[in-house]
Amino acid sequence: MMPLAPYACNPESTRGRRHHEAPPQGRNHFQRDRDRIVHCNAFRLLEYKTQVFINHEGDLFRTRLTHSIEVAQIARSIARNLGLHEDLIEAISLAHDLGHTPFGHAGQDELNACMREFAPDAGGFEHNLQSLRVVDELEERYAQFNGLNLCFETREGILKHCSLRHAARLGELGRRFIERRQPSLEAQVANLADEIAYNNHDIDDGVRSGLLTVEQLLEVGIFARHYEAVVQRHPGLEGRRLVSEVIRSMINTLVVDLTETTLAALKQHNPQSVDDVRNAPPLAAFSPQIRREADELKRFLMRNLYRHSRVMRMTSKARRIVRELFQAFLEDPRLLAADWRRDDPDQQARAISDYIAGMTDRYAIAEHRNLFQM
Ligand code: MG
Repeated sequence: MMPLAPYACNPESTRGRRHHEAPPQGRNHFQRDRDRIVHCNAFRLLEYKTQVFINHEGDLFRTRLTHSIEVAQIARSIARNLGLHEDLIEAISLAHDLGHTPFGHAGQDELNACMREFAPDAGGFEHNLQSLRVVDELEERYAQFNGLNLCFETREGILKHCSLRHAARLGELGRRFIERRQPSLEAQVANLADEIAYNNHDIDDGVRSGLLTVEQLLEVGIFARHYEAVVQRHPGLEGRRLVSEVIRSMINTLVVDLTETTLAALKQHNPQSVDDVRNAPPLAAFSPQIRREADELKRFLMRNLYRHSRVMRMTSKARRIVRELFQAFLEDPRLLAADWRRDDPDQQARAISDYIAGMTDRYAIAEHRNLFQM
């Protein structure tokens, strides 16, 4: 295990929290952030939020919770080999999807459409921004402040993307999007660990659901290459065990490639501090060949899994549920519990968006039934 590298985030020199607090005892600042994330309400709700398959389709499919845990595991392994701060990368990984709506991207796109017209600087819905909103504003657990009062470095990692319109009102945290600078390496690696996790578990869940076949997957270079190698190593292996071995081998290749390519970039740019990392070009990356192969895999999944008719049917129902909930609450906010009501119309729309974004799949379905059926 490498010692903490000079380019890693160091909890002792954190840029701090929004509200002053006494330093933690017996654990560092980033451990405290990770612990706060694990204890918050939004984290528990991830168990019942869709990744690709609706939560009730089967118990073996990934949910946002198991996805987040897989991201954290992959990110920690890479962090350890790069000398990055493992507690920080774990905190970022576990929090990265806290702002996701029910029903995955379908829910988010619909909520974004519903919110488009509300107040220029608060308009629209972006899940990264919502993850930040959860940890900065929406969690109500502490006596002295709203949110979890996390360190700058954790919040920087959570806000992976952000439109320029929103960046302008986020102060220090938004500035990097305007100035086109990078976040810490912990944030960069967590982002790529997310990609490794979902590409691979979507293959696994895709095959398990019967929406993808191994024959189809053999069209994809990286899958075919690892498949051949596994079959050579284990002649006669078939079924689930074969698919698992191929996925295991792909994850390993991606992790090793990301680690080695990033180490080479670190050698070349030789950053001596986190700020050097922030001012350099992106340092965490796959090699060009692996990048091409990963993009090919993503396109395959888009075509064959995310746009599969069975997934599209779910997507279409999900969008309708989100839209109808939003419209019903907006037309008559008295349908909302008192603590979600606001006097100002833009604030009311935002509160409805927060309420819906916080729902699990099954809660949204039940709430829709409750509002629209006798
Ligand atoms: Mg994710």
